[in-house]
Amino acid sequence: MKILLNNNDLNEALNKVSNLGFVPTMGSLHEGHISLIRKSKKKAKKTIVSIFINPKQFNNKKDFERYPKNHQKDLSILKNLNVNYLYLPKTNQIYDSIRVKKIQIRKKDKILCAKYRKGHFEGVLDVMDRLTKKIRPKFIFMGTKDYQQLHLVKNFVEKRHRCKIVPCKTIRNSNQLALSSRNLLLSKRGKFKAEKLTKNLIKFKKKLKTIKDIKKAIIIKKKELSQSYDIDIEYLELRNKKNLKLTNKTQHSKLFIAFYLDKIRLIDNI
Ligand code: AMP
Repeated sequence: MKILLNNNDLNEALNKVSNLGFVPTMGSLHEGHISLIRKSKKKAKKTIVSIFINPKQFNNKKDFERYPKNHQKDLSILKNLNVNYLYLPKTNQIYDSIRVKKIQIRKKDKILCAKYRKGHFEGVLDVMDRLTKKIRPKFIFMGTKDYQQLHLVKNFVEKRHRCKIVPCKTIRNSNQLALSSRNLLLSKRGKFKAEKLTKNLIKFKKKLKTIKDIKKAIIIKKKELSQSYDIDIEYLELRNKKNLKLTNKTQHSKLFIAFYLDKIRLIDNI
């Protein structure tokens, strides 16, 4: 595996590579990331993984500072997977040019996480645009775990670059909890609660098919979960999975949740 640190390294290594799969990450790799890498290795000739904790997408300084870092473990995972390239840029390598036109999220997209994490997706789109311009991949592999991110990046990046975003399914642990680097910050009890809550939501999503007043059922469920797990739920919403509009129909829908547990913000969609 070649480790690339800057633009020169990138240009030298990727100059003649035309069928490149790219897996952008913020490190602390787990089976979710690994599934993306495996998909890339199947679909593309060569695979590049980036590890970059993008300061611009953190709307909360504390969240940025405590984001988990596991450099040595990440390196050994990537080597074992026989990844071709690891891109490990410093912040000044990524932000080496000034953006003339500021990236803005459309008003209709200011829902779910965009409503609660001001500037977050602007930061995500900015870094994804910069990474794609530098790496010029044919495919970018992203998880449906971060569904709204996938939706926004797909619309933004595919319009600007000649590459295709490939959605990859959410990997969960044996207790249904979606894998996330942030799970490492949870206490044992916190993780247990998150697992129970996820199982509860999966059941509820199935049950919704039989319920007439879906809107009311979701309001009641939100209250019930907040009280029984003693958590702060930012949103619990049923939305159409194509256009992310609010819906009262379970067909083609996803149930989206964001909540705080042990002061850690977790998201999922079912
Ligand atoms: P992150 O390192 O959290 O920025 O995630 C990097 C990529 O891995 C994103 O495309 C995520 O959606 C994806 N990802 C994170 N967790 C999972 C998971 N549990 N299953 C599948 N993909 C995931």
